[in-house]
Amino acid sequence: MIYSIQSKIYAKLKKSLYAIIVLILISFIFITIKYNETSSQKRGEILSRILKNNYFLELNKFIFQKVNSPYLSIVHKITKGENLTNIFKNYNIDEKDIIKANSKLKKLIKPNKLKMDTILDLVIKKNISGTLNLIKLNLPTSKSINISLDRDINNEFIAKKKITQLFKKLAFSEGIIKKSLYSSAIKNNVNHNIIIEFARLYGFEIDFQRDIRKNDAFQILYETFTDEDGEWYSNGKIIYAYMTVQNRELALYQYETDKLSGYFDINGKSMEKALMKTPINGARLSSSFGMRKHPILGFNKKHLGTDFAAPPGTPIMASGTGTIVKAQWCGGGGNCIKIKHNSTYSTIYAHLSKFASGIKSKTKVKQGQIIGYVGSTGLSTGPHLHYEVIANGKKINSQKLNLPSGKILKGEDRKKFEIERIRTDVLLAETIAKKN
Ligand SMILES: [Zn+2]
Repeated sequence: MIYSIQSKIYAKLKKSLYAIIVLILISFIFITIKYNETSSQKRGEILSRILKNNYFLELNKFIFQKVNSPYLSIVHKITKGENLTNIFKNYNIDEKDIIKANSKLKKLIKPNKLKMDTILDLVIKKNISGTLNLIKLNLPTSKSINISLDRDINNEFIAKKKITQLFKKLAFSEGIIKKSLYSSAIKNNVNHNIIIEFARLYGFEIDFQRDIRKNDAFQILYETFTDEDGEWYSNGKIIYAYMTVQNRELALYQYETDKLSGYFDINGKSMEKALMKTPINGARLSSSFGMRKHPILGFNKKHLGTDFAAPPGTPIMASGTGTIVKAQWCGGGGNCIKIKHNSTYSTIYAHLSKFASGIKSKTKVKQGQIIGYVGSTGLSTGPHLHYEVIANGKKINSQKLNLPSGKILKGEDRKKFEIERIRTDVLLAETIAKKN
């Protein structure tokens, strides 16, 4: 179904012109009557009121748009065998625009396989030179997927896929650790965020630098979300995690009620603690808490934190849930963040290259959430994280901090957890069977 643009524009112009003449006449008569009715004192007042009147402004806008708008909106119903290129060509869209638009859209849809009867919305702009540019496109490709094409501030096309409904699936990954958990997990196609969360869960119990041995194994069962076409969209939470560490087995089950949520071992004991020992992955402890010669100032000074050397840009996590009290430049500490976790504990992170987006004073953060990235800002000799734990106003050694171990599920909660645990084991077996 193709409209003739030329005849459509003419018809529109003709209609608009009649409307404009009639409207101007009505406005003129109206103003003239009002003008003659009133004393000269009030005239100015009324005239300005008429000009400020919303309806009058809207009328102006309407007339202005109808006459001057170079934009043309097209509603096109896709017929059998049509593809985007021939639709664009039929509307005389500029050749260069067709190539650019197709190259962006190709990443999201198959431009040659359009569904019949789908409504394609286009906005085209007519230039003084006579060329027709594509400005906007909207194409729903299914009940829950919508494709759009717009222009950014540099006039380049940006294509977007909007998904209104997601489908949850379970994914299972396992592997043997050869070098590090991270590299082995990546090799087994585990998504980066899932590895970070997995490392956070075991980070309370395992020191990933010292405890892990070659041929230790891991398993992860986690949620993934796909669109209607089965294409991956995002990951959800970890349902089950398992690790062998020097022949010790450690399985964790996700358990959630209205009141609590967390990961518990086979005995219903939580491994999570209020603070993590190491709020960074893949780092090397480079300077511990205590007396040392300051690398820049030169004199002996007590080091009131722990340093972790890591490549610039390595993500830094909030070691516990809490509220940010400071995220700013703080002199020798460079870009630094302070988090208050509860009435007892606060933590400090210094020398950051930058803050994670949305991280500012008064923001609430969750344990393991990325708050910033490793840098070397302030008084620093190289990229590292300076980490401090403050307990009741006093700086303490984070690596010797012995927080009470997690709670143990009791009573009704324990009963419910046992049922959930069996359910998870069944899910795990089913997912593995499906995979093989
Ligand atoms: Zn330090």
